[in-house]
Amino acid sequence: MGKTDYYDILGVPKNASEEDIKKAYRRMAVKYHPDKNPGDKVAEEKFKEVAEAYEVLKDSDKRAAYDRYGHSAFAQGGAQAGGWGSGSHDPFDIFRDVFGGSGFDDLFGFGHHGSSESRRQAGSDLRYNLKITLEEAFLGTEKTIKYSKHVTCTKCNGSGAAPGSKKVTCKTCGGTGMFSMRQGFFSMQQTCPDCHGAGTKIETPCHNCRGIGRVMESCTTKVKIPAGIFDGANLRMRSMGEAGANGGPNGDLYVAIYVIENKHFERHENDLYCTRKIPFTTAALGGEIEVETIDGQANLKIPAGTQSETMFRIKGQGMPDLNRPGNRGNQYVKITIDVPTKLSREQKEKLQEFEKMCNMKNGGFFQRFKEKFESL
Ligand SMILES: [Zn+2]
Ligand SMILES: [Zn+2]
Repeated sequence: MGKTDYYDILGVPKNASEEDIKKAYRRMAVKYHPDKNPGDKVAEEKFKEVAEAYEVLKDSDKRAAYDRYGHSAFAQGGAQAGGWGSGSHDPFDIFRDVFGGSGFDDLFGFGHHGSSESRRQAGSDLRYNLKITLEEAFLGTEKTIKYSKHVTCTKCNGSGAAPGSKKVTCKTCGGTGMFSMRQGFFSMQQTCPDCHGAGTKIETPCHNCRGIGRVMESCTTKVKIPAGIFDGANLRMRSMGEAGANGGPNGDLYVAIYVIENKHFERHENDLYCTRKIPFTTAALGGEIEVETIDGQANLKIPAGTQSETMFRIKGQGMPDLNRPGNRGNQYVKITIDVPTKLSREQKEKLQEFEKMCNMKNGGFFQRFKEKFESL
């Protein structure tokens, strides 16, 4: 079959120790890993080969069988259909067994490998609560808001080090970022309290930011509020949040809109609801009334015989539609009947006259009341 000798594949002598075999495998697996040799078929074959060789030689039983019978020790019925003669293991599984669960990038510094201090960090998002009136929500508005946020320190450009000051290895942990504490028989590892795990410390901290690299700054910005905005809406202002660290992106600023309750109008979606009192005579005789709208006045026809709680619609006098510019909701007017509490002598007489007329027409209220009881 002409298979290369497992020892030759790993480049170790026949009497190599388990440790030497493992070391050799580590070296070869990293060298031929497909992530490091993208598209290289030869490297891929090599990667599989070293995994196969290691799979056998790391196991003392398999190694003894191999030493005695060579490749034929693992041949299944003499036919090795291109599989893993020594077992059914995936070369990547073997790789993970040796190197732990970490990804290849983490292990060999292709990705974000490094101490925490050099890692890009996005700034935090901020929230600002902004109260506006219903009229402002109707028209749309621009507000200037003032808020505080962390910004990169301009004195040290965010490094936290005073001009000319260098970063030095942390003495407490010797640069490991970890700190061993002995408690009786146990030794406990914890993040270094001195450098917070960074492993380095700033010799002389920046005076302006006390070594933090960021300072609080109050800033003002203009917020454009579109017409028709809803209570509870969140306006996202990109990159207006806190500064990122080490070149990381800024956070966003979210402006949360609170529309203050209006004493005339209640809003449901884009419709506005209000209540309007009309004289009982207008309700009975009909007429036209003026109704306050969000941006002016409108006339409303009241038909004769309008009952209390009747709802009328004034088309197109509601809030603007945020998503369909030019469109507006409706205004709904609920009618309540205003009953006079003070009447002049003349008014009283006229109403009594009116009542008498009604009684004659219907046979009178008391008359009807009596009839009802008598019939029982
Ligand atoms: Zn600074
Ligand atoms: Zn330290």
